[in-house]
Amino acid sequence: MDWMKLSTKKIKQVYYELLFNRCYLCHARMNHTKTSKHTPNLTLCQYCREGLAKNTLCCQHCKRSDHTSHSLCGQCQVSPPPYQVCVAPFRFEGIVKTLIHNVKFHQGNHYVRPLTHLLSEHLVDIYAQDNWPEQLLYVPSHPSRIRERGFCQTQAMTTQLISILQGYLKEACPTRPTQNPLKKIKNTQAQHSLSRKDRLTTPQNSYTVQSPVAKHVALFDDVMTTGSTIETCTKLLIDAGAERVDIWVIARTPDKEH
Ligand SMILES: [Zn+2]
Ligand SMILES: [Zn+2]
Repeated sequence: MDWMKLSTKKIKQVYYELLFNRCYLCHARMNHTKTSKHTPNLTLCQYCREGLAKNTLCCQHCKRSDHTSHSLCGQCQVSPPPYQVCVAPFRFEGIVKTLIHNVKFHQGNHYVRPLTHLLSEHLVDIYAQDNWPEQLLYVPSHPSRIRERGFCQTQAMTTQLISILQGYLKEACPTRPTQNPLKKIKNTQAQHSLSRKDRLTTPQNSYTVQSPVAKHVALFDDVMTTGSTIETCTKLLIDAGAERVDIWVIARTPDKEH
């Protein structure tokens, strides 16, 4: 199947398949025997999961892909970004890229669930030996872009992610403030539409923190490109009182210049 050509009819079909416990993508019927009450329903079958581009060979710290080992990338060896942990389980290509594009540009809200479900599985593994953050914040879109699209995809994904994590963690689940403290105040061009040089020189004062943050926060974004937005926001959160910032993204864009 050409994932770039998912028609509205197809998307609707996928949506209805959910009601019958079938895989979101290939519609194969799935075995829904839950192993425990904490295990949420599967959303992709094993076959489709194997087709996802996993970000396994990457920098240990910033999860920049296209590296041949699990060591630190050159940038992280010289000046590591100030976040503590970065979770980026997939590369931004193939099926994952198509699903995220559908959410962003084609009102594909029903793909929020499988995407956040996949991320939640990785989070549960990674935080098995670590403290979960107290708060979950997200990198927001600018208000004018939210008006244009009708919704903020990172907000929608964060809401779904919290709901899935509550199933695993109950009261230990990170909370989401009623108002996201992080705001976008400058409507810059979308990162993916800029050249690498322009992305790295995008004004750093596009975001601001407008309300108190917890000591240990997680910052969610759907895709991490150069990492400059994430780094800017991490610094702002640290300035606002956070002592530890963890980054949670679904996918990291492979660096084409390596
Ligand atoms: Zn499938
Ligand atoms: Zn790195």
